[in-house]
Amino acid sequence: MHNRQFERLVYRMINKTLLIQHADVLVTMDGHRREIRDGGLFVRNGFVDQVGSSDQLPQNADEILDLSGHIVLPGLINTHHHFYQTLTRAVPAAQNSNLFNWLKTLYPIWARMTPQDIYISTKTALAELALSGCTTASDHLYLFPNGSSLDDEIAAAQEMGMRLHASRGSMSLGESQGGLPPDSVVDSEEFILRDSQRLIERYHDPEHGSMLQIVLAPCSPFSVSGELMRQSAKLAREYHVQLHTHLAETQDEEVFCMEKFGYRPAAYMQSLDWVGDDVWFAHSVHVNSDEIDMYAREKCGVAHCPNSNMRLGSGIAPIQDYLDAGVAIGIGVDGSASNDSSHMLAEARQAMLLARLRAGLAGASLSESDLPELFTARRALELATLGGARVLGREDIGSLEVGKCADFIAINLNKLGYAGALHDPLAAVLFCQPQQVDWSFVQGEAIVRKSQLVHVNIEELVTQHKQAAQRLLKKE
Ligand code: ZN
Repeated sequence: MHNRQFERLVYRMINKTLLIQHADVLVTMDGHRREIRDGGLFVRNGFVDQVGSSDQLPQNADEILDLSGHIVLPGLINTHHHFYQTLTRAVPAAQNSNLFNWLKTLYPIWARMTPQDIYISTKTALAELALSGCTTASDHLYLFPNGSSLDDEIAAAQEMGMRLHASRGSMSLGESQGGLPPDSVVDSEEFILRDSQRLIERYHDPEHGSMLQIVLAPCSPFSVSGELMRQSAKLAREYHVQLHTHLAETQDEEVFCMEKFGYRPAAYMQSLDWVGDDVWFAHSVHVNSDEIDMYAREKCGVAHCPNSNMRLGSGIAPIQDYLDAGVAIGIGVDGSASNDSSHMLAEARQAMLLARLRAGLAGASLSESDLPELFTARRALELATLGGARVLGREDIGSLEVGKCADFIAINLNKLGYAGALHDPLAAVLFCQPQQVDWSFVQGEAIVRKSQLVHVNIEELVTQHKQAAQRLLKKE
């Protein structure tokens, strides 16, 4: 019997229960978008068994938690990140550059990373994410210097107890071949494909409640060959794993694709068989209406990363247009060197604000009666939960409903930042200064308890991380 199946069987035999009671409001994100006053959950073996008002739920369980004074929400889902970039936040030489120059400054620094650096930075990024409400994270690791591998990241995530979609990224098109990255950080395509297959076979779990999935993710049109894109898609489809890459992030990329391939970025991906409901793209800022229709028709998802797009001056993704067309949209904090944080609630807030700004700019010439309704807090939260689940191809997370994974967060509403906003706690969570969560559960297990991470000593981690970052930035 497979290890994971064995674990599940043991878990079922244990028949562990958890009862959440008396949340001021429990936001389900179910089909009716129910928001339940004095709400609660009954969890059995890591899955939601019952959800409703506290007086309708069982009164006994192995663990009972009274969350009066709190709002309970489905755990947030991060659809794009580069955990390792926590090591290079706010690097002076890369602070004020656009994407291509930012990358060229950072590639040589990243080339010095070791397996231990990947491990420490993963823990750091996940700790930040967990405290900001994230329970499922997708990461995109695309360079593997000095013997590092995706295994280093996976080991750290497993110790943290978080749900991970680990993207096996890759770069194969070095400068000498007309790509952007230096030759020192690219790998051979043969090695990339062999390692991708190894990782899928070793780790990928497609089942309901899966804690770990592998994704194949050549980095971008300007850092891999078309052939690697094609071969990665073929391998992903053989194993039914998802595909992910950066696309249409900047004008520079559009010019690069037109000059090198004779296609705009989206058409280039179509030419490589890189469209479908198993594909999601990060950013997709520079798209026209035909391309948005193509995303909808082919069911490609988008990871919207508003902070990074603003930080690098890339542009404003047309999120409302995507949603109107029916495209699946999730939120991504993007790498920690272009944000420079991993705060999911802050990212959802920024998505709400940026969509409002875009509508405002577009509507400058409209009369007041023609102005569209502004993007709501509830819509932004939907992207960060249900939207993310859809982008990652998951039907078992993103809402609190019977049979779904018990991934949820709770935030104490008696905080300074919420003072005066409690007539609508859900809106307060998005409109007010983003806070940290006080409780977080993944598959029914606490990863944050009374505002503290369960599996991480933050002081020790920050010290280790600081040393690693200083070593990377030290000039030879
Ligand atoms: Zn990215």
